Amino acid sequence: MKSFRKFSQCSCKGRIRPSIVFFGEILPANQFLKAEKAISNCDLLLLVGTSGIVQPAANLPFLAKGAGARIIEINPERTELSYLCDDTILGAASKILPKLFVP
Ligand SMILES: [Zn+2]
Repeated sequence: MKSFRKFSQCSCKGRIRPSIVFFGEILPANQFLKAEKAISNCDLLLLVGTSGIVQPAANLPFLAKGAGARIIEINPERTELSYLCDDTILGAASKILPKLFVP
């Protein structure tokens, strides 16, 4: 959290907006099209830390499934998309992801 604070204030003392989309904001159309294209061509989709109910992002896993991708969900609890997933790993992403990506 300390490093986040370091980057969240501009030299003019104004707050720097992080490069993320906040809940309720519109997704950038061009970026979303890129996501749709990429996800339609993936072999494996990791669905991490999402409720799976916020649109339009919640539709993305269906594109992956339609393309024949394997879907692994990582979330503290099952979601609306769990039935679509090949595997669901229950737990915090902060605990599970480091175990999956051992160097
Ligand atoms: Zn500034």
